[in-house]
Amino acid sequence: MTNHTPVIFDKHNSNNEEQYQTWLTQNPDGFVVNTTWNTRERANYMVLHRATCKSISNYTAKKKWGGYTQRNYIKVCAQDIESLRDWIKNNGRPNGSFTREFPRCCKQDWRV
Ligand SMILES: [Zn+2]
Repeated sequence: MTNHTPVIFDKHNSNNEEQYQTWLTQNPDGFVVNTTWNTRERANYMVLHRATCKSISNYTAKKKWGGYTQRNYIKVCAQDIESLRDWIKNNGRPNGSFTREFPRCCKQDWRV
């Protein structure tokens, strides 16, 4: 059985940025959906990344601490893609599709 409930990191909890980073470290083979805090916009932006993707974990001058979970975006994390599809089905996209899967940022580590 691979039906794990995804873990959601958002600004309901101010510790979530740190806990999100811990999850990424502990689940290098996992997957992350980047979506919006605003539930009305959510269905139009659900991008699937690998847990190792730098674009969803690194901080820069523009991407400061808190930006991954505490502002306009949230992260939905799971060890398998099917769990994320199930979450998406229940959160605005009944067909369970991602708006994008493994964009360019993820490609360095991804072998099809
Ligand atoms: Zn990526």
